[in-house]
Amino acid sequence: MIKNVVVLGGGSAGFMAAISLKTKAPNLTVRVLRSPDIGVIGVGEDTTIAFPRFLFEYLKVAKRDFYAMAEPTWKLGIRFQWGPRRDFYYTFAKEYETEWPGLSRPTGFYHDHETQWVGPYSAMMAQDKAFARNRDGSPNLNTPHAFHLENLKLIAWLDSHAKKLGIEIEDANVTGVETGPVTTTGREERGVHALVLADGRRVQADLFVDASGFRSELLGRALEVPYVSFERSLFTDRAVIGGWERTDEVIKPYTIAETMDSGWAWQIEHAHFINRGYVYSSAHCDDETARAELLRKNPKIPADRTRVVKYRSGRRARNWVGNVVGVGNAVGFVEPLEATALAVIALECVMLADSMVETGGNPGPLLVDVYNEHNTRAWDDIRDFLAVHYAFNTRLDTPYWRDCRDKTDLAGAARIVDWFKENGPSTLVKGILIPESNSFGFEGYLAMLVGQRVQYNRERKPPAKEMQLWHERTAAFAAEAKGAMNVFDGLRALRMAGWIK
Ligand SMILES: Cc1cc2nc3c(=O)[nH]c(=O)nc-3n(C[C@H](O)[C@H](O)[C@H](O)COP(=O)(O)OP(=O)(O)OC[C@H]3O[C@@H](n4cnc5c(N)ncnc54)[C@H](O)[C@@H]3O)c2cc1C
Repeated sequence: MIKNVVVLGGGSAGFMAAISLKTKAPNLTVRVLRSPDIGVIGVGEDTTIAFPRFLFEYLKVAKRDFYAMAEPTWKLGIRFQWGPRRDFYYTFAKEYETEWPGLSRPTGFYHDHETQWVGPYSAMMAQDKAFARNRDGSPNLNTPHAFHLENLKLIAWLDSHAKKLGIEIEDANVTGVETGPVTTTGREERGVHALVLADGRRVQADLFVDASGFRSELLGRALEVPYVSFERSLFTDRAVIGGWERTDEVIKPYTIAETMDSGWAWQIEHAHFINRGYVYSSAHCDDETARAELLRKNPKIPADRTRVVKYRSGRRARNWVGNVVGVGNAVGFVEPLEATALAVIALECVMLADSMVETGGNPGPLLVDVYNEHNTRAWDDIRDFLAVHYAFNTRLDTPYWRDCRDKTDLAGAARIVDWFKENGPSTLVKGILIPESNSFGFEGYLAMLVGQRVQYNRERKPPAKEMQLWHERTAAFAAEAKGAMNVFDGLRALRMAGWIK
């Protein structure tokens, strides 16, 4: 029976796992070991709607407590500067799947050149608005949103919340791992017997969580779980990162994804800081060229304050092996586009904590197999969805983008792309071609395929009368959005309510 857990790693993944376990199974002893010498990766500032759901619905964290320390700003979606349109929006609401009264087909069929937003939330994004207003004028925090979070502030909040729950946190360097057979899940497998610390102490546990980031100390180095690369579908492997202190720039309620010569750049909006990162392929562009392009397009970034982060795109073949469960970068990472890592970490943590509760700390072999299938599929689903972003972006004709268009393996996305090419933005097969468990859903695919103007065979123009109705509808979205609240006023309202400083 699992009674005590050691989490190796004090980045977002380690703390999210420790907090999930302790919140749901308070009788477990949970201890976090983290290395002050290695530190944390310091990126991971953009989230999806899964992250606030994890915090407030699953962990039942008090919103006020989180806002006060983590100081998030709000994100309604992504504004893509991508493909032939000037830009398009992908929100957390179902805007492309919707059929509006008077229109015979779903939204995607009406998204012509004149259309800049396709629903109430993208209309708000187009006007830099973040919230509908409650009757009393306060921001309606139920607007479907995610967060932009400064990584170190997020970790500081996670750290303090973990301490409040009684999780023990220790600064220590793990320098060795003793492995051998374990039967924790009712099946004999190679697992971890003890972690060896730099001062010679041995740390034992019933279950180890590997949250050691890209070092993957337990799953990768000690247990040698094979690595499955996504390099056939995704070619980027580095990001050069920089930013500047906000002055009079409007705080945008979305992430920008801008096409660059050898990749793309994010813009993530914090209350006092604007963070930019150029994600590129080192096979197409060296670090200095990438840095120069980022600085040229963002002259406010201090030239001496950029840094390069390297990564590879892929995952371990299994998350849970013997008495070791991996979370976060120790298991997998796809790439920063669509900001999915914290969402997958949340998924991993929820299933792990619920497994402990429901089995009373006695997980069986089938549970572990299903856990592995479910969580590895989550990484593969992201690869598939991102492949669609790269295979169809016609905005630039550089060697990198030509390679993306010619060589990207669509992997699991091939069928939905074929469906779209035959049938256009029809929703007939939603829930069939893309299962409900897919975090982007049919909506996500429609947003990217319609947004990038991927051509389809039966391109039938909707009747002129319907197009006129559609343009009246989008004008009504815009009028409604005018009354909504921007991020600055949202922050001011929270400040007045005493939620933030
Ligand atoms: C360029 C880039 C951009 C990204 N952007 C996003 C984004 O926008 N949104 C998103 O969700 N995700 C993003 N990610 C992923 C993001 O890094 C992770 O979601 C998140 O930070 C979790 O990291 P982690 O906790 O797994 O690893 P880390 O933050 O690296 O933490 C690892 C921990 O393990 C400890 N450790 C390691 N080895 C040892 C040892 N031997 N002994 C003791 N302690 C040890 C370290 O000290 C540290 O505490 C991005 C990643 C990259 C590379």
